[in-house]
Amino acid sequence: MPFKITDLPINIESIKGFLADDEGQALFEAASHTAALGPTLEVGSYCGKSTVFLGSAAKQNNNIVYAVDHHRGSEEHQLGEEYHDSELFDSQAQLMDSFRTFRRTLRNAELEETVIPIVAASQLASRHWSIPLGMVFIDGGHSMEAAMIDYRAWANHIVVGGILAIHDIFPDPNDGGQAPYTIWKLAKASGLFEELPTVNTLGLFRRI
Ligand code: SAH
Ligand code: MG
Repeated sequence: MPFKITDLPINIESIKGFLADDEGQALFEAASHTAALGPTLEVGSYCGKSTVFLGSAAKQNNNIVYAVDHHRGSEEHQLGEEYHDSELFDSQAQLMDSFRTFRRTLRNAELEETVIPIVAASQLASRHWSIPLGMVFIDGGHSMEAAMIDYRAWANHIVVGGILAIHDIFPDPNDGGQAPYTIWKLAKASGLFEELPTVNTLGLFRRI
């Protein structure tokens, strides 16, 4: 069945986030195609926009999604920064906290039996990871260090035929930060992946 955004069990516009509809559709399709190969893992869930696409595809195909996020926000989400959202600020702890909103999204999208939140930094979550993955979606921190950690931590767990997706690919530095593009170039040069057509700012590869 062709994907229709209106078939999702939640109004996607109602979820705070950083993902275009065409990118969401591409995530849905990639997660559908790889569902038989192993679970999907996402780094960087925020309020769950991308998770709804990945999770809905997984649910339809009897698969699961691991959703890794410390929910403390990236650099740009911190108090005083460009993408700070005061509704996601825990004033008692004086820290960002998107986890409550993320859980609400999972509940409203009927994905609590499909998505496994891992509330931890990517590197910590990866430390003893040994589950082969059908798909990895990297959309976490945008510092060079964070992006490199994510690539090194997760790309090697993708099974042959599985998909690596990296968000926020901007070949022109005037359009955006270069860290995701740097790991995109690493993946391309690694010899481990076949490049698939990029969708908007979503880079895609198949593990060969
Ligand atoms: N995919 C989301 C947007 C993610 S924003 C969407 O579709 O809207 C980036 C997220 O990465 C933030 O929620 C932030 O908390 C998380 N993040 C940043 N660095 C991280 C790290 N090192 N480990 C885990 N999560 C991280
Ligand atoms: Mg992003």
